[in-house]
Amino acid sequence: MKTAEGLRAALRAIDHRSYPAYKSLAGSWSFGKYVLNIEHVQGDPFAAPSQLSVAVDRKTAGFPAFCWEAPWNRAALEDYLLRRFGRQVGRFSRQARGSGKSGVLAVTVPGQEVLERTDCQVCAGAVTLRFEVGFPANGRTINAPELEKILFDFIPVCVEQGLLYASTPKGEVEQVIALAEDRRFIREELSRLELAAFVADGAILPRESGVSDRPMKNAVPFQSPEEMAVTLELPHRGQVRGMGVRRGITLIAGGGYHGKSTLLKALERGVYDHIAGDGREYVITDATAVKIRAEDGRKVTDTDISLFINHLPSGRDTTKFSTLDASGSTSQAANIAEALEAGSRVLLMDEDTSATNFMVRDELMQAVIARDQEPITPFLERALDLWQRAGVSLILVVGSCGAYFHIADQVVQMDAYYARDITAQAKAVLEERPVPCLTAPGFHLPAGGRVVDLSGDSQTRKNYRGDGYRQERLKVKCFGKTTFTVGARELDLRYVEQIVDSGQTRALAYMVRYAREHLAGRSVENIVAALMKLAAEQGLGAVCGGGMIPAGLTLPRAQEIFACFDRY
Ligand code: ADP
Ligand code: MG
Repeated sequence: MKTAEGLRAALRAIDHRSYPAYKSLAGSWSFGKYVLNIEHVQGDPFAAPSQLSVAVDRKTAGFPAFCWEAPWNRAALEDYLLRRFGRQVGRFSRQARGSGKSGVLAVTVPGQEVLERTDCQVCAGAVTLRFEVGFPANGRTINAPELEKILFDFIPVCVEQGLLYASTPKGEVEQVIALAEDRRFIREELSRLELAAFVADGAILPRESGVSDRPMKNAVPFQSPEEMAVTLELPHRGQVRGMGVRRGITLIAGGGYHGKSTLLKALERGVYDHIAGDGREYVITDATAVKIRAEDGRKVTDTDISLFINHLPSGRDTTKFSTLDASGSTSQAANIAEALEAGSRVLLMDEDTSATNFMVRDELMQAVIARDQEPITPFLERALDLWQRAGVSLILVVGSCGAYFHIADQVVQMDAYYARDITAQAKAVLEERPVPCLTAPGFHLPAGGRVVDLSGDSQTRKNYRGDGYRQERLKVKCFGKTTFTVGARELDLRYVEQIVDSGQTRALAYMVRYAREHLAGRSVENIVAALMKLAAEQGLGAVCGGGMIPAGLTLPRAQEIFACFDRY
């Protein structure tokens, strides 16, 4: 391998030359303690910065095997190292100067979740970290001494301080791993105790603001009602008491502004793990749980929504329902059908974001409009069968649909941010009331096996590349968490609420391109399985389908991959 001194010489040789001469630095250079890979060199100082990575072998990195042998510990270690490296890099960014993005040093800044990313990967104890460097220039003229400072003074410090076990404060890594193991333990306990979720006492559920995912200061800490309390014996932290939400049908009721949606939101996010200090470290939800909402205007393709919608006036087939512009109720029905196909065992719903006519038909409406004139079977008449016959639990926030009390196994009231178990109270009230229809006839699980149309658009070109014409790959572009384009096709994921990181959206975009190149003509289920297998066996970067692995990709859950292809 080429040495660091070779890099220094190559760099000095191109000083003052025009910018593209930087391209000659691409390749791997040994720095003794690590290898520096210059993977992609930017075309000019104003373009997106160059992509680099450092690779530290297992012995030099020095992390004990217990930190990375189990996948959940490895993910926690990767997250920890990315944050540490990020802090180092932050100190040095823009310390080297020049025009455009000269001197920028950047890594992905993770949010509150611990997620698998291409930015930091630990493989059998060896650490790879991907980051960006704005190669310095004056105008468009190479400024080699400034890049020399970055590569020979700054990066070595970042690696030394950020990526080696020896430089971590005593006991800190062990704490990160302990938290990962405790969370893992709770996840296993959920299935043993037949719980859909666990919310520890003392958890801080509300966030700082609508745009900040940090914990709210001076919030009322969560406290489990006595009736629902479960005490778990965590391997590291010891006894933790909290609210065990049993499988079945659970309502979160209460007056407006009392903290219902905040609790549900925390449960939505509980499918992911959170960093220490987040307040939701021990808020753990069944990992397959899916937030269901109405999503007016979404595209639906060949989806079986006949469990909820039948006999449309147009006579359209609702076992293979397609539309470019779904209504509130059809979109919510499609979202449920798709979540079931994605293997979800828990549905999370908030009345506020549901279509009213999808949730209930009250007595008065039933008296005026005959059953056979209404295509919608309300969710109220399916929820019990979903639980009892298909084992799918429901956690539903209600503020006005009292009818759901009839089918609830447990009712939690949020009262000024305090949770109370009012199940017995609610059941007592029901005793004097007539029972409405709670299970409509014709229950069945939606048919799966849908094939998505991944066929091309006019964006692919054949380009001449030296040795002949080659098919050019589709361009992938991402716009934050919500939107991406692959070729000319755009996808809006705004209402897929459990996408929590823009890296997940980016990974989904690459997955779509990969599927278009390799998996066309298969069912959604088949595509998702193939992509998950690929990421598990060859790493998340494999979804890029060869070439350089970019930084900034985050592994989504199978449920979000389904959601993506369902909308494509
Ligand atoms: P609901 O859905 O019952 O109407 P929300 O969950 O939207 O109520 O909460 C209303 C407000 O109260 C929000 O601004 C939220 O941030 C705040 N809040 C929620 N839980 C707490 C808590 N435990 N401590 C302090 N404030 C909270
Ligand atoms: Mg609310």
